[in-house]
This record gives sequence, C-alpha cells and structure tokens, in this order.
Amino acid sequence: MSTKLDPITQAVRIQTPRSEQGEHSTPLFLTSSFVFDNAESMRAAFAEESDANIYSRFSNPNVDEFTAKMVALEGAEAGFSTASGMSAVFGSIMALLSSGDHLICSSSIFGNTHTVITKHLPRFGITYTFVPAGDAAAWEAAVQPNTKMVYLETPTNPQLEILDLEWVGKFTKKHSLIFNVDNCFATPVLQTPIDFGADIVIHSATKWIDGQGRVLGGSIVGRADLIREIYLFCRVTGPSLSAFNAWVLSKSLETLDVRMQRHCENAYKAAETLQSHPNVSLVKYPFLKGHPQYDIAKKQMKGGGGVFCLEVKGGVEAGRKFLNALQMLSVTANLGDTRSIASHPASTTHSKLTDAERAAVGITPGLIRISVGLEKVEDIIADISQALDKSAL
Ligand SMILES: *Cc1c(COP(=O)(O)O)cnc(C)c1O
Repeated sequence: MSTKLDPITQAVRIQTPRSEQGEHSTPLFLTSSFVFDNAESMRAAFAEESDANIYSRFSNPNVDEFTAKMVALEGAEAGFSTASGMSAVFGSIMALLSSGDHLICSSSIFGNTHTVITKHLPRFGITYTFVPAGDAAAWEAAVQPNTKMVYLETPTNPQLEILDLEWVGKFTKKHSLIFNVDNCFATPVLQTPIDFGADIVIHSATKWIDGQGRVLGGSIVGRADLIREIYLFCRVTGPSLSAFNAWVLSKSLETLDVRMQRHCENAYKAAETLQSHPNVSLVKYPFLKGHPQYDIAKKQMKGGGGVFCLEVKGGVEAGRKFLNALQMLSVTANLGDTRSIASHPASTTHSKLTDAERAAVGITPGLIRISVGLEKVEDIIADISQALDKSAL
C-alpha cells in the first residue's frame, strides 16, 4: 500500500492480502494459531526473522489490518491493538513505567483511568501528580527527577475540557518525558496528537471507532521503540484484540471520516440550538464560542466532536426528570454510537461523590452528557427540548 495515499484513503483501502478466492471484503481469520511448513520456518518466525503469524495473542491478520489503519490515521510509526480501551490505557502505562517512576496526569480524566492511576499504579510503586489544565506553573512544579510520562485526554470525558497539545508537546520535550494521549473523544479524523509531539496515542475503539455500539476494542499507536516495549509486554500479559472485533472495527474505520463529519454537524447544531432553552443554564461544546478553551480547540481539532454537555436548571432532581422524559434518546452507559445517548453523571457514574467532590472534577448536579448520533438533527433537538420542558421542578 502506497504511503502517499491520504490517511483517510488508507483507512478505506488497507487490506490483508487476498486469498485465492479473490474476496473483496477481508474474511474473518478465526484461528488461534498458524501452521508452519517445516521446523526452519517456525524457528525463523520465533526468531523474528520473518513476520509470519505464530499465535493470535501475538498477531492475527484481522488485528494487523485494523492496527495498520490506526497507524496510518494517527500518522504513527507502529501500533498494537487491545481488547478494550482500558487495556490500552493500562498496557501503555505498565509497559513503560516501573516501580519508582512518577506520572503526571491532567486532573480531568475518564473515571476508570483515574482509578487505575490512583488505586493500582501505587501498588506497583508508581506515583502520580494531577495537574489542572492550562496552569503552566503547576505543570512545571509537578516535574520530579523520576517523572517519566505525561498522560492526558482531550477533549475530556465528560467535562469536555480541552488541553493544549502543542503546549504539552513542548513541555514533555523540554523535560524528556513520554507524552501519552487518550484521543478517544476526538478520533484521528478530527485530531492527530502526534503532530503536536505526542509519543503514544491510545483509543477506546469501543466508542466512535466502532461507532455502532457493537464491540469493545482498544488501540495503542506511536513511536516504534515505545510500541515495541508495549508489544512485548502485551503479547505475554494477554490483552490482545479478538479477530472478530478487529474485523468489525476495521470495517468501521472505512466510514469513520464521513460518520464523524455528520456527528460533528449534528452536535454543533443541537448544542447551538439548545443554548437558548429556558431550562438550560449552560451548554458546553468545544466549537461553540462560549467554551473556555474554544481557541485551543479550533487550533488543534478539525471538528468539535460528537459530544456536548448541558446543565439543566434544578440540579440532580431535574437531571433525573430529564432522563425519564426522553422518548427517543437512549439512556445507556456508552457514547459514540449512531444512536443519540444521554447520561447524567451526578446520579450515575459519579453518584457516590459529594457535591463538593463532584465540583472539584467539574461535574455539576445538573450536568447531562449527550452523545449525538446520526438521526435527523431535528428529531434529536425535538426530543431533548421536550424532555427539558418536562425537567422543570
Ligand atoms: C470509554 C473510555 C475509555 C475506556 O474504554 P473501554 O473500551 O470502555 O475499555 C477510555 N478513555 C475514554 C476517554 C473513554 O471514554
């Protein structure tokens, strides 16, 4: 495959070599292992003198096709695909950090990632410091002699905070730190962190990359030397992506660019329209003028993404009433689907926190996260509007 083709084209055209059947669409390679003609070819594969497949925990044609597309889309040197987004988070950290190392993380971060960093990394002697986005002095003050990695996501889930990738890229270069970015909310068609100095980019492919709410998956791409360490760690610890899920995800990448264009269009239109609803006190979307980091979002993203947040007046109770009044939108714990989804962090994912604790991580009582789907935007807006009408206390 010519590397001169645009990454979007490569996401459509990269394909495992055809079999003698001449199939147009890649078949599914449901096989745990691969056979060798003789002892010598098996020895050569194990010695990495050939790139023959050995065992599907190490590599598989469907997984390799998906990985090659992710590498092309992110402009990376190499990659490894994982069973879920969380195994990409965990694998990319654990393969590269050791006991005694220190990690800097932006304070607004996906809940399960927060748990990995605060509850599990310390069990292995890895310490961490959370720093607020945009506070340059705090970032400088957080650097210790044993700091090895900076980890962040942008836009963040669910607060939609935007971190300045160019600034962090310079910061990590100056301090010789590994720069690891969770690019899940933007997807590579809207944002490519490697252009700003990221060394590793990870994804929950479960979200926009699948885009149809079917399978779990994860992706890690980046600098070849770091990916080599991650590959060696993951192939023995076992978070490999299944061939079936890779087959689904590789097909999904063929439509990622067109899907994201429509998701962004719909999200912008819905966010802009709903700003003026009387029961809404705030709407947050990276490409809406009022967003606190609007300029940074415009600088580093090609579109604002498919998620916006709104704050219903009346706090937790109004948020619950809003969810109950929805007629079309799904109330479910996922995002990045063709179907629009609403969630209310204060009464679900973050219900165990006090108001003060929630406020510290940017989750206000009436915060609703909307993942905007591919339905006609007028229908999406109408359903949210009528539910907002009924959310008044
Ligand atoms: C969902 C999510 C993850 C975890 O991905 P899974 O595929 O559910 O394991 C990681 N980061 C972000 C930003 C997410 O939204």
